[in-house]
Amino acid sequence: MGMNTTITGMVLSSMPISEYDKRVTILTLDRGKISAFARGARRPNSPLLASTNPFVFGDFEVYEGRSSYQLVKAEIKNYFSGITSDLTCTYYGSYFLEEAAYFSQENTDEKNMVKLLYQTLRALEHEGLEKELVKLIYDWKLLVLEGVYPNMFSCQCCGSRENLVGFSVSKAGVVCTECIGRESVLPMHPSTLYTLQYIISTEIEKLYQFTVSGQVLAELKELLCQYREKYVGHKFKSEKFLDDILL
Ligand SMILES: [Zn+2]
Repeated sequence: MGMNTTITGMVLSSMPISEYDKRVTILTLDRGKISAFARGARRPNSPLLASTNPFVFGDFEVYEGRSSYQLVKAEIKNYFSGITSDLTCTYYGSYFLEEAAYFSQENTDEKNMVKLLYQTLRALEHEGLEKELVKLIYDWKLLVLEGVYPNMFSCQCCGSRENLVGFSVSKAGVVCTECIGRESVLPMHPSTLYTLQYIISTEIEKLYQFTVSGQVLAELKELLCQYREKYVGHKFKSEKFLDDILL
């Protein structure tokens, strides 16, 4: 016999099933990514109607069956309506959810990823922050959480911690002035180096507290594009969409 459990998390996606039901994917603190069946959630008077939409964060009471979860009720703490009411924010937010769904796993502790996603969506709602920078900080920090990130603190050829001026995709990190002639590197402004060091080492709560120049933003994007292509190799549908529509 199964039993009811309460799990905390965010709805990543929601798919209609038959005429009245939904299947939702929730990124949870303790159990990672789970899939739950929400019976009757498409009925206009269902208490589950609004609480099974993407971006919704809260406590979900689920009945844990032998092989699947069934959503019983939800107590929502944040609907992120500042995102869903704005088209540009929705495009960015949808990409953040797709990326979280790709990197998160089932039956594992995903507290940090939930925390990162939550803080990132709050930053996205904040009108004073540049959305493209929010995206790049999130993209890079996700790689850090996944353990797939470059060494930005010492030269990948000689170990020097000074004069780090280039970025080598193949060596997965920075290269110093002494070694730069022997490696094919991408140029890197000192502020780009500092920004990536900050993103890697700072705690999630303090990530969205700085701005950068246009040049640094462009470098963060180019390095990410090349690095992720080599070490992750996955293309995100909603990112292509973002590039096509917004840039
Ligand atoms: Zn070196």
